[in-house]
Amino acid sequence: MSAPPQTRRICTSIEIQMNTYRIAVIAGDGIGQEVIPAGIEIITAAAVQHGFRCEFTEFPWGSEFYLRTGRMLDTDAVDQLMKFDAIYLGAIGDPRVPDHVTARELILPLRQRLRQYVNLRPMRLLPGITSPLAGRTAADIDMVCVRENSEGEYCGIGGRLHSGTPDELAQQTGIFTRRGIERIARYGFALARTRPRKLVASATKSNALQHAMVMWDEVVAEVAAEFPDVTCRKYHVDAIAARMITHPQTLDVILASNLFGDILTDIGSAISGSLGVGPSGNINPDRTTPSMFEPIHGSAPDIAGQGVANPIAAIWAGAMMLDHLGERAAHDAILRAIERVIGDERVKTPDLGGRATTAEMTTAVRARLQPQAA
Ligand code: ATP
Repeated sequence: MSAPPQTRRICTSIEIQMNTYRIAVIAGDGIGQEVIPAGIEIITAAAVQHGFRCEFTEFPWGSEFYLRTGRMLDTDAVDQLMKFDAIYLGAIGDPRVPDHVTARELILPLRQRLRQYVNLRPMRLLPGITSPLAGRTAADIDMVCVRENSEGEYCGIGGRLHSGTPDELAQQTGIFTRRGIERIARYGFALARTRPRKLVASATKSNALQHAMVMWDEVVAEVAAEFPDVTCRKYHVDAIAARMITHPQTLDVILASNLFGDILTDIGSAISGSLGVGPSGNINPDRTTPSMFEPIHGSAPDIAGQGVANPIAAIWAGAMMLDHLGERAAHDAILRAIERVIGDERVKTPDLGGRATTAEMTTAVRARLQPQAA
């Protein structure tokens, strides 16, 4: 067992009945250690303004922990995490540890064992950021990907035979269940219903994957019938990838399997201007286990330790976490503060073409945090 996690109580002095949320923090590797403290600072400031309290408990899990112990997580990590209302994750990845170890032994098991079957990724071009797509403005790029997060191509079933010999064989199986497709589709359609355009684009590949993706299409069509006010179109995943580049303004909610969503959201973050901006949530809509919120970027070993990582993705992920916990006003206030900082273009980290540090960007967001829209 590792040393017991440290709990940092962050509270106001007002001793009245306040909602208190217990947040497990896994800052993880590289710039995760830099952007998560920035997010905690902003969440805490928003909590004080909006009359609730967050209690953060830090866990040392990640690649350093693996190099010391041979494990990415404590063996009872899931039991420990079940005591929390939400999990705030930084980044996992280290050049000294193979990628399949970091993903397979930390992120994927947490997503699966905590039944976080929705991976939610807003992909927005914020005013003030230049997209690599020529001539595109914030009005053109405002999508959200609802990615299946618990089965599909990343279920981990398969194996290798005759390793290291000329007869070597690898099998990787995708598992698609009616239940799994139905619940992710229902989440996607319900989300689309709350958005102005009410559009769902389902990513398929039923021309080549004649079992799994034909069933995907059938189940999505059945769920679509429950949402007559939402328009559903299906596209092959390669066509949707091209459409994100050529006609991003036609896309709203993208519904995708685990692998397809993983790839499409990287396109989404690229056209949104920087990896340092995009957040994500690993959500269990049934709320029987804690959901987990993280920036989409990785540990960025090339800039780790320099204090120049863009904290916006982590701060935005923190705002999504507050929204999930029921603190919508605090979420909106943080989003407005982010939009103001990015929009007035005075404080920019190097990924956005500026010279500001992580700390300067965080201070700028904090300074613009106001309870009501100005
Ligand atoms: P990992 O293996 O952990 O995914 P990676 O370097 O392969 O690491 P990312 O960490 O996502 O992938 O980084 C890709 C590129 O984007 C790097 O050049 C990195 O510096 C840059 N980058 C990622 N996140 C940020 C950020 N928050 N601020 C600034 N640059 C970032």
